[in-house]
Amino acid sequence: MQQHLQAAQSEQSAHACVLHQAWAKVPASLSRAEQQTHVAHIRDLLQQRQAVMVAHYYVEPELQDLALATGGMVGDSLEMAKFGQAHAAQTLLVAGVKFMGETAKILSPEKTILMPDTDATCSLDLGCPADDFAQFCAEHPDRTVVVYANTSAEVKALADWVVTSSIALEIVTFLHQQGKKILWGPDRHLGQYIQQQTGANMILWQGSCIVHNEFKGSELASLKQQHPDALVLVHPESPAAVVAQADVIGSTSKLLQAAVTLPAQIFIVATDLGILHEMQKQAPHKHFIAAPTAGNGATCKSCAFCPWMAMNSLQACAHVLQQGDAGITVPTPTLQAARKSIQNMLDFAAAYREFGPASDDLHTHIQHFHHWIRHHERTATFL
Ligand code: SF4
Repeated sequence: MQQHLQAAQSEQSAHACVLHQAWAKVPASLSRAEQQTHVAHIRDLLQQRQAVMVAHYYVEPELQDLALATGGMVGDSLEMAKFGQAHAAQTLLVAGVKFMGETAKILSPEKTILMPDTDATCSLDLGCPADDFAQFCAEHPDRTVVVYANTSAEVKALADWVVTSSIALEIVTFLHQQGKKILWGPDRHLGQYIQQQTGANMILWQGSCIVHNEFKGSELASLKQQHPDALVLVHPESPAAVVAQADVIGSTSKLLQAAVTLPAQIFIVATDLGILHEMQKQAPHKHFIAAPTAGNGATCKSCAFCPWMAMNSLQACAHVLQQGDAGITVPTPTLQAARKSIQNMLDFAAAYREFGPASDDLHTHIQHFHHWIRHHERTATFL
């Protein structure tokens, strides 16, 4: 007990330190006129470099709009990876955090992958150093190693499977039905949620996302009482007390889809607040409320912004496109090993989509999926 307490306290103080450094690197806000000048400049630079921009839902609204307006895309990390791989452009500008740029490079080694700020990382990645994770894997050689996409290329290279929050439940259910025991890393909240939903035998690395970890269950319960008609949308990187109150649990794309398609008019949203831009765009008549991140004594009630996502600025995009550097690099042996575990996920996702829409009972659906891939003479690399 004492050990767990010390580990949690040391994680909190390490997070406070890196957060401080990250926020110090976030550039000052621009005036409207400055924004427009930068946007025009970046449009020209993208054309000159024949580059396409791939942005995450958590980056600044003006970057999301710019990506869409210039033929790029905005999405979650799985959608970003697939779009970047399929697009003909030889240069990708990835507005997100470092693991997203590395994933783009792993999937498209021949392409130049530019990122606005290569110091933009992720607390899950920082909290899972490859050497320590290799030791964790070595202690459990009988387990299938499944890692979340929010990890370094080196950690992905140690894994059998990479998953994102949009396909993690399906893949772990699939592995569980094959009798596999899972070693999961690095997000403990997502791992715990998947374990509960699938019944899989999992041991968990104890990482967390500094943004989602801040959502408070008791404050959310009070907010729900104030808005009894609201539906609660929760990303599963949030603590269990928050997930337990959700009407919809899932990836940013799933939450966005729920906000647009469900008939409710009010939604409480527990994920990085960058997503509200696209939600409000796609459902302008609906009302979105940020889930509370702080208790009674705090000076901020809802501060769910990722500092590393905030490092992606218009200024930084213009700078990296102008500089013309070589972009993200990943050593070849690491790249090849990581590619295999990412490709397992992509192949699974493609086959699963082809199989058809998911039914309500995930376990039965995956049993049928097993049957389907075996009887369609499908050469599935992930089998
Ligand atoms: S929001 Fe959390 S999981 Fe996403 S990049 Fe930031 S620290 Fe990582």
